[in-house]
Amino acid sequence: MRPFLRYIYIMQAFHEVIDLLFPHFCLVCGRRLGQSLLCSGCLPLQPVLDAPTRCTCCFSLTPDLDACGRCTLCRLYPLPFQRMRFLWSYEGQARDLISTIKYRPSFRLGKITAAHAATLFEPILHSGSWDLIVPTPTSRHSLWSRPFNLCLLLAKALQDSSPGAGVVSDSALLHHGCRAPQASLRPRERLRNVRHSFSARAHEVEGKSILLVDDVITTGATSAAAARALLLAGAAEVDLIALARASTWEQYRMKLYQE
Ligand SMILES: [Zn+2]
Ligand SMILES: [Zn+2]
Repeated sequence: MRPFLRYIYIMQAFHEVIDLLFPHFCLVCGRRLGQSLLCSGCLPLQPVLDAPTRCTCCFSLTPDLDACGRCTLCRLYPLPFQRMRFLWSYEGQARDLISTIKYRPSFRLGKITAAHAATLFEPILHSGSWDLIVPTPTSRHSLWSRPFNLCLLLAKALQDSSPGAGVVSDSALLHHGCRAPQASLRPRERLRNVRHSFSARAHEVEGKSILLVDDVITTGATSAAAARALLLAGAAEVDLIALARASTWEQYRMKLYQE
């Protein structure tokens, strides 16, 4: 086994042991609990609801939809996705929970959250099917500080909860590394940083419908670069699903998608 993979497995095991040793406190807020890792107050239960005034493409609320249900911005600046869906706005409980999973980090909390999210995604997954469910890969740099990929945990949970939705492939999309961690950059710098970070294996994605899985959409730079790599390799279409979307995305979508 390569040293890097050995390190990843050891770190995952280490974090599982730590989580098992301290099971009596909520991992997010620290409140004393029974055997749970997460108190009810820290688990965002209610997803963003579908509504007739949501764009069928970007899922934003707007009264100005065309006959296909698309908003003005999606008509003028088409996204690389056919549909974008997310469970929560990236604020409050959702932000605290996802930040804890990613920056604490906690593999077990990631798995719990992925399983919970997969049940909330079921209505969306039952409305379609895809050839492949593709998690957004994480950079090697990120894996050193967080030895698991939350997007992969979510993709596997989606496949488990909705077996007809598609088959997970964590080899179709490759991450070649960024010059700097995305979280350390200002929104305007993020697209440039990840623009050439992804490539897709043509023999895996050519002609396929893809459900791309991300954890948080902040500016959308990462998911846009990943989707473009899939399309460049011949994917027929890409839909995007994520745990949460930040309001930042609304501010930067035109700048990001015009480039
Ligand atoms: Zn809590
Ligand atoms: Zn839209």
